[in-house]
Amino acid sequence: MQIAPSVYFYPFTSFSENNCNSIIIDGPEKVLIDPGHKHLWPQLVRQIEADGLSPADISLVLHTHCHPDHMEAGEILEFEYGATQAMSGIEAEFLNEFGRDFFPWMGLDYPQGSLGRQLEPGPLNLGDKTLELYLSPGHTPGSLCLHWPEAKVLISGDVIFAHSVGRSDFKGGDHQALAGSIARLAALPDVDILLPGHGPSIIGADKVAANFQAVKAYFR
Ligand SMILES: [Zn+2]
Repeated sequence: MQIAPSVYFYPFTSFSENNCNSIIIDGPEKVLIDPGHKHLWPQLVRQIEADGLSPADISLVLHTHCHPDHMEAGEILEFEYGATQAMSGIEAEFLNEFGRDFFPWMGLDYPQGSLGRQLEPGPLNLGDKTLELYLSPGHTPGSLCLHWPEAKVLISGDVIFAHSVGRSDFKGGDHQALAGSIARLAALPDVDILLPGHGPSIIGADKVAANFQAVKAYFR
């Protein structure tokens, strides 16, 4: 569903299965953020096509982090449509060293695709728009959050959710680092729409601010 101009949000709502929320930023360079699990990809394709978009037009698949429920389907976009997969350089390193273990733990094969691009924090140019990437460790060492100031949208991956924060007890997690990452995000101006990696979106600057305030309780 379209949630702001050029921003499409695909929340995953099944209670019986785990998958992430997916997001598309439309424009000359179309970006899919967090494609989710491979076996759930056909469901996402149906939703994308219902919005008049085509998965074949996606050129960049940006993984907020390397957990399988966020990135597993990335290789489908690479192999079928020639899309480039990307994550932060720190997260790529973590995936190569320890993060790869998440796949066998979940009974999944390690992805065959490749990371065509490693992203650094800072501006991400998408032709007609520039997003800002924030390195946000804590849930994983190299998690990325995306802020698009013009649209007042913040895409937070598994760093912060509605009334909750990302787990820091997985391999690579760090509770203190998570607190710092969330404090940095809370200080961003221009966030009317918060799109987390799981669960509902938060719409309205007041509600976003209240949510940042509410989750501080996790770090006391
Ligand atoms: Zn995660």
